Amino acid sequence: VTVQGGNTGLVGGGVPAAGSDTVLLSLTRLDEREPVDVAARQVTVGAGVRLSALQQHAGAAGLDFGVDLAARDSATVGGLVATNAGGIRVLRHGSMREQVAGAEAVLADGTVISRLTGLPKDNTGYDLTQLLAGSEGTLAVITRLRLRLVGVPAQRAVALVAVESTAAAISLIGRVRDELPDLQAAELFYRAGLDLVREQTGVPEPFTEPAPAYLVLECAGRTDPTDVMLEVLGSADGVLDATVAGDLAGQRRLWAYRESHTEAINAAGVPVKLDVSIPMGGLDAFVAEVPGAIAAAAPKARLILFGHVNEGNLHVNVLDAVDEGEEVTDAVLQVVARYGGSISSEHGIGRAKVPWLHLSRSPAELAAMRAIKNALDPAGLLNPGVLLPDD
Ligand SMILES: Cc1cc2nc3c(=O)[nH]c(=O)nc-3n(C[C@H](O)[C@H](O)[C@H](O)COP(=O)(O)OP(=O)(O)OC[C@H]3O[C@@H](n4cnc5c(N)ncnc54)[C@H](O)[C@@H]3O)c2cc1C
Repeated sequence: VTVQGGNTGLVGGGVPAAGSDTVLLSLTRLDEREPVDVAARQVTVGAGVRLSALQQHAGAAGLDFGVDLAARDSATVGGLVATNAGGIRVLRHGSMREQVAGAEAVLADGTVISRLTGLPKDNTGYDLTQLLAGSEGTLAVITRLRLRLVGVPAQRAVALVAVESTAAAISLIGRVRDELPDLQAAELFYRAGLDLVREQTGVPEPFTEPAPAYLVLECAGRTDPTDVMLEVLGSADGVLDATVAGDLAGQRRLWAYRESHTEAINAAGVPVKLDVSIPMGGLDAFVAEVPGAIAAAAPKARLILFGHVNEGNLHVNVLDAVDEGEEVTDAVLQVVARYGGSISSEHGIGRAKVPWLHLSRSPAELAAMRAIKNALDPAGLLNPGVLLPDD
């Protein structure tokens, strides 16, 4: 049985293996949304509810949902939990597992487990709900979720900042986090990505002089953060230029430089897509080393890097390397492992990354994961070949 939500996953976990006689189980009709529990700031919804529908539902009650990502109109909450999705607001609210207060799920033998009361304190043994976060459909079919909601900030400001290097971006994040407690997002991209976005979408050069790297910063709170942002950016080391937008149209315009990356890359060719995270102390050195590793595997490749810099999460997109996809993947993930990073920061393992899972998980961890899988799904019915290698 292959479990599928919105089928927006980027590692093939919700897609049956070619030639297999798998049953595809779509959860998209489980789209019931119960009334928002405003006092608890929680809501119970079916696993097939789309992220944008959840956001609208929460919004109608004056609240919001802590996770947001560009696949919001298709991705389901069941899929988001099963992949422990991240996105642009992890810095502020954490990833998907932090939003989950309870779940109902069906085990491989048909048993239903249900913990939907959403108690904030509940130390009564193993946390089965959290076990399902990141399980990629291999342990159970999630059918309903009890989700935490967050408040809607009254004021918001977005900055686009040109910086002289990755090191300057990292040090700016440290300073901004200290001085702007309402920081919501910090996204990094580089000159090569901006050139491609400009080429594909026609957006103008943001500043008079080109810069090696750029950050999009978003702050939101009860009071207007614009002045504090301008003050911090005006006095920070390594900042070459900056612009801040307080109005919605201006904010969208600045966000587009970062959010158009995926679309621009896909329009330019078929990329090798990797999603890695590196401990913050090694991020700068990793960014310097990875182009050489890619060039050795695929001399004509074009590298576009961008990502969620506060978590050391970089999306490594490599164009013009379709024929050398496996070599490029291996080269980059070996470097990631050497830096003590993760071979999958937020997209999961699915089918695509199974051969490299051992680079991020020890034999002891893999054995423990296998033992959990065997205990809950002894016949291996759920998502065979996904996350863990076949026995
Ligand atoms: C344009 C775009 C932008 C994206 N941006 C981000 C981003 O910023 N951050 C990020 O983390 N991801 C991102 N993604 C990846 C994707 O949106 C997430 O992985 C999302 O969580 C997948 O949800 P889905 O409903 O589409 O799941 P699917 O793709 O259908 O399935 C994903 C996995 O979850 C399992 N699954 C699905 N539903 C259930 C269920 N009810 N019970 C048990 N298992 C289930 C599947 O078997 C599969 O292993 C992006 C994707 C796209 C296309």
